[in-house]
Amino acid sequence: MRLRRAARFARTRARELRMIVKALVSTKHPILVHIIPMRRCNLACTYCNEFDDVSTPVPLDEMKRRLDLLADMGTSIITISGGEPLLHPEIDEVIWHIRRRGIIAGMITNGFFLNQDRIERLNRAGLEHLQISIDNITPDEVSKKSLKTLDGRLEMLAQHAVFQVNINSVLGSGVKNPEDALQIAHRAVALGFTSTVGIIHDNNGQLKPLGEHEQNIFEEIMELGKRSFSRFNEFQHNVARGREHNWRCRSGSRYLYICERGLVHWCSQQRGYPGIPLAQYSPEMRHREYSTEKFCAPRCTVSCVQQVGILDNWRDPQNLKPMPMDPSPQTPELVQIGPAGDIQ
Ligand code: SF4
Ligand code: SF4
Repeated sequence: MRLRRAARFARTRARELRMIVKALVSTKHPILVHIIPMRRCNLACTYCNEFDDVSTPVPLDEMKRRLDLLADMGTSIITISGGEPLLHPEIDEVIWHIRRRGIIAGMITNGFFLNQDRIERLNRAGLEHLQISIDNITPDEVSKKSLKTLDGRLEMLAQHAVFQVNINSVLGSGVKNPEDALQIAHRAVALGFTSTVGIIHDNNGQLKPLGEHEQNIFEEIMELGKRSFSRFNEFQHNVARGREHNWRCRSGSRYLYICERGLVHWCSQQRGYPGIPLAQYSPEMRHREYSTEKFCAPRCTVSCVQQVGILDNWRDPQNLKPMPMDPSPQTPELVQIGPAGDIQ
């Protein structure tokens, strides 16, 4: 197991380095895409508006068609998100299709459906990254994603997963016990995983500085998470201190969020724009979004898009405004979410 894990880790790191070089050489392709095969979730965390309890899985053929479109754009990484992606009955085939098209495959899950058989199927499908967000030590009325509930599944992952596992803990508004995040991060590292910390902002989606005690915990977790690429990210330190951040958000171009209906959105927090079906989302549209200034950037808390932004922050200032919206938009939703659910 250790050898298999080391081999996949080395291969994935080599592919990540190639991804970075490709991203530095050309700005024409998406670096990271989040795609939703399943909006339904088995949980109902009170801060989250990225799930429902009724929707059906996106059919496999449709998922493959969307993945092929993304592969043809030259996408480097696709992360499957939700809802809860493990509720999708053909999720292994979705992962396998991503790998078959030469793309790095990741997944964000609440972890509740993981068992030895599930983990081995994910190994065989070729999954390379898995992230689980854990919100507290014991379940409460806000979130059931607790260390107590999930620890047995984490041990199974430590024993059987050949893919990389990251455990994300949270600090900030609404988190009752900030010490929980530190305990979760220590447990992650003890099991051989990487650890990151997300900061939940207030209900208006605004940055809110952490208190001094929480900031100390934040810095300690960031230090523990030094194996993760997020250590290069000054952005999170600014978020922790409630400071505005000066960067160029390349969502709609270098980062895409594809909802269950196959529409392109800036990100999980700005759903509804541009709201164009992926099949109609042309290179010109991506190029335009690359140069479009995002009004929400200075106070943004979405760290994955920020990490993608690092590769282009040094070049190509943004001087365009968002395109006018279609008067009969393809989607009724236009959501500006506060806390970012499982997305980090
Ligand atoms: S945060 Fe994740 S686990 Fe919780 S309801 Fe949202 S999608 Fe489900
Ligand atoms: S919320 Fe953040 S990631 Fe989303 S579009 Fe705005 S700046 Fe970009």
